[in-house]
Parts: sequence; C-alpha cells; structure tokens
Amino acid sequence: MCLKSLLNLFFPKLCVGCGVPLFAHEYLLCDYCRFNLPYTNYHLMPENPIEQMFWGKIRIFKATSFIFYTKDSSAQSIIHNLKYHSRPEVGTFMGRLAGNALADFYADVDLIVPVPLHPKKLKKRGYNQSEMIARGLSEIIGKPLALDALFKNKITKTQTKKNKEERFLNVRGSFSVKNAEMFENKHILLVDDVLTTGATLEACASALIDSHAKISVFTLGLASS
Ligand SMILES: [Zn+2]
Repeated sequence: MCLKSLLNLFFPKLCVGCGVPLFAHEYLLCDYCRFNLPYTNYHLMPENPIEQMFWGKIRIFKATSFIFYTKDSSAQSIIHNLKYHSRPEVGTFMGRLAGNALADFYADVDLIVPVPLHPKKLKKRGYNQSEMIARGLSEIIGKPLALDALFKNKITKTQTKKNKEERFLNVRGSFSVKNAEMFENKHILLVDDVLTTGATLEACASALIDSHAKISVFTLGLASS
C-alpha cells in the first residue's frame, strides 16, 4: 500500500457537502452531492428571478445564482466550508463547476470582477472567497480576472443581522474604482459568494457603472431573504 492510500485510510478526505469519506476519483464533493446539488438552473429561464431582483434599481444585463443556499443542506455546508473553515479551494472548485454550466450564458463578458473584501477582513480570513469562485469561473469560461481595481473603501458592519433597508444603507457608497478607464465600455461580470438582498452587488455595480461599464452578476449561492 502506498503512503497516499495509507494516509487516506487513517485520515480520509471528506465530502464538503455531506461529510462522507471520498473515493479516490472524487475531489472535494462526493458524486451523490455533485449530482444532487440544489441547482437553480435560472440561466435557462428568460428574465429569471435574479435578474428581476434588480429591475427598477440598477441596470444588470445577465444574472444568475448557481445553487439554492438553504439551511441544513449540502449547499450550506459547501458555503460554510468556503467562508468559515479556511477552505479556499472549495470556491475555485465550485467556480469551475459553475463555469461548465454557464460558459454560454456569460459568453459576451469581457472581465470578471470579484466583490472585494475590506483589507482588514481579508487579513483576518486570509483570502477573498468571492475571488476564489471568480478564479474557477475564469479558468473555465476563459475570461480574464480584474483584481484590486474595485475596492472596498470602508468597513461595513456584518449584514447578517440587518433587515433589507438597513443592508442597502450599510453598504451604499462603500465601494470605489481605481483605474476607471480599465472598465470603460467593458462588460463586467461581478462575482459574489451569496446573494441575499442584492445590496452589496448593487453598491459594486453602481461604482462600476459610474466608470461606464455594463454589468452582469453571478453568485454561487442564493439565500432566501
Ligand atoms: Zn457528499
């Protein structure tokens, strides 16, 4: 028995969705979780609910979320691993999975921009989870990433305990653009981990639209607000 199989016997790699030990051919997710993820498939629906969420607020060209983020589900476990358990590779992996499904949907995008974290938050977590998702997407759909050009200019309190209106007020004006000419007349795909009210994405999109960019949106999870 080689060392790798021996290590795997004593410290099996576990599925980030359901926690079962993985088989050798599986990476991060077991086949069962992978085939049974709560996919939204909203990209197949014209004027889908994510796009409608932004109607009357801000002009978004295409938008979708990949999976429903429901309590006690494999999707929740995946997103918790990515955000709170120091597993950045889960983001890249899920970004690749989404990229395989969405390459046609986002075919006319020019640049991919992850929603930035404030530098203090980035230091604390060690990585930006949205950037990890964006990296996986970029790899598969073949569009370049633009990092650091959109940045968070103020620390905002956590959104989780806020109602819808408070969330919008909390993040409004908290994102700025460096090198605005980089975005001029470009179609930008904004990437975030979870969509709840859309407040964060709206604040990012409005900073980019000021630089004359056209905006589309992708999030890994869709939370019920
Ligand atoms: Zn699983």
